[in-house]
Amino acid sequence: MKISICPGSFDPVTYGHLDIVQRAADIFDHVYLAVLNNPDKHPLFTVEERIALLEESISMLSNVSVDCFDGLAIEYAKQKGALAIVRGLRAVTDFEFEFKLAAMNRVLDPEIETVFMMTSSEYSFISSSAVKEVASLGGNVSQWVSPKVAQQLYAKFKEKEDSR
Ligand code: ADP
Repeated sequence: MKISICPGSFDPVTYGHLDIVQRAADIFDHVYLAVLNNPDKHPLFTVEERIALLEESISMLSNVSVDCFDGLAIEYAKQKGALAIVRGLRAVTDFEFEFKLAAMNRVLDPEIETVFMMTSSEYSFISSSAVKEVASLGGNVSQWVSPKVAQQLYAKFKEKEDSR
């Protein structure tokens, strides 16, 4: 069975993430969509909230499951018996970071490959952080995230504003 992991922050999940996951699900027998539990990044959504939004978004993909992990993605990949780590590439600016990460992971475990997928052109400029910025200013994010994610984004920012 060919297993891969798609690790990331998914804070929150966007249509750009879902495009990569769907394409990975066409290639691999099983994909673990893995939320990195990294409080140092000060995420807007808790791990539980991010998992719930991902689960709802991938409910139609029978060979994808949502999970979370701490620490090194390569260790998590090994634990899951994965042969690959799938990452999305948007712009040249992603390349340098991803290149270093893939090179380090190869040293840590040469048996696990990093597979890169080019973003689909309509999603090339979408990132969770850009979506958060637009939502925080009350802009329309419906082209980039699901209605449920949009609703939760506005609720989060309203909560923050009310507590000020
Ligand atoms: P990380 O903090 O690990 O970058 P992200 O949640 O931002 O986590 O991204 C997870 C993965 O999804 C990464 O491989 C990233 O490159 C990819 N990704 C994010 N947005 C897009 C997009 N719009 N198109 C293609 N890949 C994307």
